[in-house]
Amino acid sequence: MDLSDEDRTTMNGWKPEYRDSARPYTLVIRHERGPILIGQPQRLHDGTITAHLGIPAGRRRSWHIVDERYAVCACCNHPHPCQEYAMERVADAEADRLARLLDSHAPGVCMACREPVTTRQKVIVFPEPSPLVPGAPGPTFHANRWACWADARSYELGKRLPAHPNAARLASCPGLLFRHEGSGREECTAERLCTGLHGPNGNRGMSCFTRTYMFGVNGGYPRPPSDCGYRQHGACLGADVSLGGPDPFTVGDEIDRNSWSRR
Ligand SMILES: [Zn+2]
Ligand SMILES: [Zn+2]
Ligand SMILES: [Zn+2]
Ligand SMILES: [Zn+2]
Repeated sequence: MDLSDEDRTTMNGWKPEYRDSARPYTLVIRHERGPILIGQPQRLHDGTITAHLGIPAGRRRSWHIVDERYAVCACCNHPHPCQEYAMERVADAEADRLARLLDSHAPGVCMACREPVTTRQKVIVFPEPSPLVPGAPGPTFHANRWACWADARSYELGKRLPAHPNAARLASCPGLLFRHEGSGREECTAERLCTGLHGPNGNRGMSCFTRTYMFGVNGGYPRPPSDCGYRQHGACLGADVSLGGPDPFTVGDEIDRNSWSRR
């Protein structure tokens, strides 16, 4: 088989001892029964249908070779599992997923843990209809459980704010929270834009000497806005150029800030 420039480039990316196994090749497959799903099949004189598959360079894969005796579906005589069987399985899985999603949107139920929320518990109720289930009201989350809060936060960042960029946040902050070792004070990289929505009280926020690389080492790490004077463990990271928070500010944050500064 002639090598194209592309094949050569791909093969040169492999170690010399493996280069041969990365060669492109042609696979000839013979049709047994059932639908013909790939390639441009050719019918030979004896009625056999074959197809030639070109496998590009570097695409090593192991092929599943069908045994002389293989199982056949009772409904359609195609090799088992037949396409219809596979489609039914996919539909079943999709129905299960939808049912679980609907359950999680039931009124008075926390979408994260799917336990009922009692009137005495602190909850987050998102006011906009859910983008996940058509016609369903916004989901509810426990506000006082860390695991449920984390899910509410990812719902807000991943689903709600993209759909409603002007919405005021209910379960997230554009900044990262630090806990100063020297003073015990909490400080957020969003400063004036901090929503205070960093989850249930308790052991929240990173220690002010913790470097959390956001985009690899070269991407830098966020720092608290001020230095508490703590000198152990690599010292407080504050009072230096902040390299930004974990997610970009939204229009809603800007509106919040403007209405705040007018007060
Ligand atoms: Zn079948
Ligand atoms: Zn919950
Ligand atoms: Zn500090
Ligand atoms: Zn904050």
